[in-house]
Amino acid sequence: LTTADPIDEHRICVCVRKRPLNKKETQMKDLDVITIPSKDVVMVHEPKQKVDLTRYLENQTFRFDYAFDDSAPNEMVYRFTARPLVETIFERGMATCFAYGQTGSGKTHTMGGDFSGKNQDCSKGIYALAGSRSFLNFICNILLEYYSGGLEIRFGSFIQNLRVFDLLNRKTKLRVLEDGKQQVQVVGLQEREVKCVEDVLKLIDIGNSCRTSGQTSANAHSSRSHAVFQIILRRKGKLHGKFSLIDLAGNERGADTSSADRQTRLEGAEINKSLLALKECIRALGRNKPHTPFRASKLTQVLRDSFIGENSRTCMIATISPGMASCENTLNTLRYANRVKEF
Ligand code: ADP
Ligand code: MG
Repeated sequence: LTTADPIDEHRICVCVRKRPLNKKETQMKDLDVITIPSKDVVMVHEPKQKVDLTRYLENQTFRFDYAFDDSAPNEMVYRFTARPLVETIFERGMATCFAYGQTGSGKTHTMGGDFSGKNQDCSKGIYALAGSRSFLNFICNILLEYYSGGLEIRFGSFIQNLRVFDLLNRKTKLRVLEDGKQQVQVVGLQEREVKCVEDVLKLIDIGNSCRTSGQTSANAHSSRSHAVFQIILRRKGKLHGKFSLIDLAGNERGADTSSADRQTRLEGAEINKSLLALKECIRALGRNKPHTPFRASKLTQVLRDSFIGENSRTCMIATISPGMASCENTLNTLRYANRVKEF
């Protein structure tokens, strides 16, 4: 019999956020098949048919640290997820917050990042704007509240799929190098010093317009790449703490495997590989366990220092769509989130 280590319980927080049915789903008469009966339980009610064509509901229950209903505003989600992580970085720690889920399930709405104005659905821009502003506002305000002389706050940002690009520097291609002591460096990544929340928001604007430049739709690109925003605290130039906000690529990859485009297939395979490795790396958090697959992908490689530190904490927000049409992806997301938490 094994019991969960209370320290690990504390280090890893996994929660789920359900979004409301959107206009398109409502028009298509899609059904909401997700209920959140209590603050930590998610239920999926999947309509099924027996061989004799009798209909029944298959109910599946999942338990997480927190489950947020579609009525939960961003502020509330942050209070339970990002807020407890902020202190960590003042204590020489590494904090990481991921949004994981299918494209369209609310990752960017939660983590912020998309206000390029290129969205066809105009309500989307407004939501995304509110989302991104409030997340960074939230974190930066706490940072500045705690801010004491001698700490420099810096901000860096990059995006990756098969290759790593600097979002604050016109998508310059970056190299990831590992030295003999397994220290990983993203060579040439620009960090900008920030003095107030507005500075950070300006940089986020630059990062986002860079992320979506040359793309027909914001979602087309963000579904195929991971975006990493990092708030870095330095004291006399030395790393003191780091907060990474990560808007992961969409986790639905079925169609990629049969794509005629070689690049699409390669990218899809890399995204799959990185999400699988990510799960294992989070599970190993704070313990330098042998065989942890940090090197399996660029994503886990560049986040290595955030995983192995003694004072590392992480939070995953698994975002789900409520519709029956998304049921299979939703179940995959919930199973993945479950595995991150399970020891
Ligand atoms: P993703 O980044 O996972 O592809 P988005 O964050 O772009 O998904 O969300 C898709 C759409 O759903 C957007 O229009 C977004 O504003 C809306 N949305 C997502 N989550 C919520 C929520 N919790 N409440 C209201 N609208 C939401
Ligand atoms: Mg997105």
